[in-house]
Amino acid sequence: MRSLSVFGATGSIGESTFDLVMRQGGPRAYRTVALTGGRNIARLAQQARTLAAEVAVTAYDECLPALRQALAGTATEVAAGPAALAEAAARQADWVMSGIVGAAGLVPGFAALKTGATLALANKESLVAAGPLLLEAAARHKARILPVDSEHSAVFQSLLAEDMVSVERIIITASGGAFRDWPVERLAAATVAEASCHPNWAMGQRITIDSASMFNKALEIIETHEFFGIAPERIEVLIHPESLVHALVGFRDGGMIGHLGAPDMRHAIGYALNWPDRAHLPVARLDLARVGRLTFATPDPARYPALRLARGVMDTGGLAGAAFNAAKEVALDAFIAGRVGFLDMAGLVETTLSDLSGRMALGKRPTSLDMVLATDAEARRIATMLIAAGKGS
Ligand code: NDP
Repeated sequence: MRSLSVFGATGSIGESTFDLVMRQGGPRAYRTVALTGGRNIARLAQQARTLAAEVAVTAYDECLPALRQALAGTATEVAAGPAALAEAAARQADWVMSGIVGAAGLVPGFAALKTGATLALANKESLVAAGPLLLEAAARHKARILPVDSEHSAVFQSLLAEDMVSVERIIITASGGAFRDWPVERLAAATVAEASCHPNWAMGQRITIDSASMFNKALEIIETHEFFGIAPERIEVLIHPESLVHALVGFRDGGMIGHLGAPDMRHAIGYALNWPDRAHLPVARLDLARVGRLTFATPDPARYPALRLARGVMDTGGLAGAAFNAAKEVALDAFIAGRVGFLDMAGLVETTLSDLSGRMALGKRPTSLDMVLATDAEARRIATMLIAAGKGS
């Protein structure tokens, strides 16, 4: 029987994973080692009961009594806090979903790789902040990372029978997010509710807002660079409003291989869950005659400054990804809290990076996870200070 753990089980990625696991036999087919969540204790407990998880972990100490109560009378152990998340990830499981949102997914992901597990990586922040370290850890412990981001799963699948030396470019697509068709002048006044509506994908609120600002695509360009080892200038982004072509790989003979599918994360998750096999998955089949047209356009740099910032981060390399992601997370929190405007997020991230580059060698290659976490903390401190000083708006 295969064993698995799901980190971020109560989120959008976690729920899709749960759905697939249940459709593929649930507790009859899988031994569930760990399920983790944040504040949605009722749902975490429900999943843990259904899958008879060995341990259920909430990220927050104050949620532990509620989790303990919700799982009373079951054999599931309960625990709370970041150390407990890392401990749960260190428990041996064949397949681990990294579906926590944000840099909080970094430590559990590393801990899972050390067990030699197959890590299904939805948490793109891990690759952005610590790509080389993560890949080194996977190689050292004979673990495997399977990308779950739809674009990266698409590239992975397009490369199955290919050699990277023949790859000329990788094109990842973007829907353009909630504000694709808004006049740029309106963006400054965009609200959180408006930014939280994705035209095609149903996702967690943070990644949905990041799609509107294209910080999500900025993270994904860096993720592509880190995971596939391709030079930044060979990575392109195309706006593709239909969200049906997820990525394309262009080869040196001029041909391209792309991956199409309905905008449903259960494809990429199900692919990673069943890899190297393909299982029957409950996703809509494309009727291309009905779709009729697939459209593509170059993103407008004025509308999406995050894309330019991502290029700068890759030029700097080293610790810049960790700083970029951390500053982005603080800026997003501030936007959600109504402390900065939609367009201020990019300015705040850029100012944080330039402030930080005056204090430390951001391009220095990290040799330990601690270096990454220290940079993350310092970027958060500076971004928070800038907001408090009113420089974030
Ligand atoms: P959600 O916000 O829907 O879910 C996040 C999960 O992480 C929840 O289980 C949440 O718990 C938990 N969580 C929140 N904060 C913490 C923390 N500090 N420590 C530990 N756990 C925490 O996010 P998504 O599922 O949308 O995204 C998850 C990851 O997958 C992100 O990295 C995202 O970029 C990536 N991704 C998501 C896609 C999608 O379609 N959603 C597509 C491609 C990539 P709770 O809800 O109980 O508080």
